[in-house]
Amino acid sequence: MGDTIFGKIIRREIPADIVYEDDDVLAFRDLNPQAPVHVLFIPKQPIATLNDATPEDAALLGKVLLAAADYARQEGFAQDGYRTVINCNTHGGQTVYHLHVHLLAGRRLSWPPG
Ligand code: AMP
Repeated sequence: MGDTIFGKIIRREIPADIVYEDDDVLAFRDLNPQAPVHVLFIPKQPIATLNDATPEDAALLGKVLLAAADYARQEGFAQDGYRTVINCNTHGGQTVYHLHVHLLAGRRLSWPPG
């Protein structure tokens, strides 16, 4: 599996504003935020896209999502609400091929997306 910029962030080869880490999950602020809060949650074990996830990845994907929900609670915006997004491949707008969950919050987000 090819390395990505997120692999470099995991290995601390490039800087990132890391807001959460455990054995399986890393979270850091998006470089180009689309909302007052825009954090990326990634599995440390890389999965290129959601298409590449297998049943063996189910627990890991659950940990990534639950880490995002915990962060929302801890930061105090869980009740107001937030959005989690996983972009997949070209039509989904994916640009980094290391699966990640965008957590967007801090303002009312429009729906549907463009
Ligand atoms: P996606 O388009 O869903 O693949 O999302 C990739 C996201 O990674 C984009 O929102 C980028 O702004 C963000 N991004 C790219 N490079 C970095 C970086 N070095 N640090 C933080 N976020 C990044």
